[in-house]
Amino acid sequence: MNEVKPFRDDVTDRNMSGGCGFQDGVYKPIADVSVNVLDWGFNKSDVTYDVVHVKDGAFFRLQHHLDRFWASMAGLRMSIPYSQEEVAEILTECVRRARLRDAYVAMVTTRGVPKPGMPRKPGLIENRFIGYAIPWVDVIKPDVQERGAHLIIAKTPRIPSASVDPTIKNYHWGDLIRAQFEADDAGADTAVLLDLDGYLTEGPGFNVFAVIDGTVVTPDRGALEGVTRQSVLDLCADMGIPTEIRPITADEFREADEIFTATTAGGVMPCSRVDGRIKGNDRPGPISAKLKDVYWQRHAEGWDTTPIDYGD
Ligand code: PLP
Repeated sequence: MNEVKPFRDDVTDRNMSGGCGFQDGVYKPIADVSVNVLDWGFNKSDVTYDVVHVKDGAFFRLQHHLDRFWASMAGLRMSIPYSQEEVAEILTECVRRARLRDAYVAMVTTRGVPKPGMPRKPGLIENRFIGYAIPWVDVIKPDVQERGAHLIIAKTPRIPSASVDPTIKNYHWGDLIRAQFEADDAGADTAVLLDLDGYLTEGPGFNVFAVIDGTVVTPDRGALEGVTRQSVLDLCADMGIPTEIRPITADEFREADEIFTATTAGGVMPCSRVDGRIKGNDRPGPISAKLKDVYWQRHAEGWDTTPIDYGD
């Protein structure tokens, strides 16, 4: 077990404007947070993480993210010496110290560094926790969201779920990054990936949706069970929009009336083209645009938010 004092106050004077991290019991500027090259989190992608956002001084759906982070750690047989309440307090303190009203807030657990001579068994290694808050991140830039993102369906297939479970949030991003390069080479904004059977999964950092005959449809496979995806499904239920979680083929996706993506780092992000094919009038479709508006409106109304006390 780490001997840590989560609330040590020895770095308050240092510049936290780029973000604040918490590691080994100490809060420090984000640039000073580092991972040992011998940590399996670095050299074997043996790591899990979660990201929650802070908008206008409040966390959104913090408990959902903590629950998923705990489930991810259990799935990888990891544990940390903190309770959910303590992690929530650590993340709050990172946001407070960085004085961020809008933030990307991460919790990360790495497998850790094997002790010299230790048998090569992951279960013996002490796991390491890092928390941090940095200024807001948009996976798809706001101006691109405004015009509707241009997607491609990547040739690179998603890593099979039987090999890397996509419901455990992970850094096995080799396929997602290859797909992003495909999009860059094609002059598109980003990509979605199919599984080996040709069904839609997700993209580099987001879940994906199609609107087909008035129904909002999202894949049932190969993807993280995104908190924003759940928020979209909840909003659709409130708004009387039918939803389906089911397999989606590439052709169905290309033919869909509307498409959009969703993630914590950006929210509901409408798209206007797939593989060069123009959707509607080459702008965000009406259901996607409405869901985006309502998503942010519900934030402003305090839906599932945890306000941060900045002490000012
Ligand atoms: N899919 C992947 C691969 C992601 O990395 C993410 C978020 O980072 C998502 C989906 C969206 O999940 P959430 O809405 O919980 O942020």
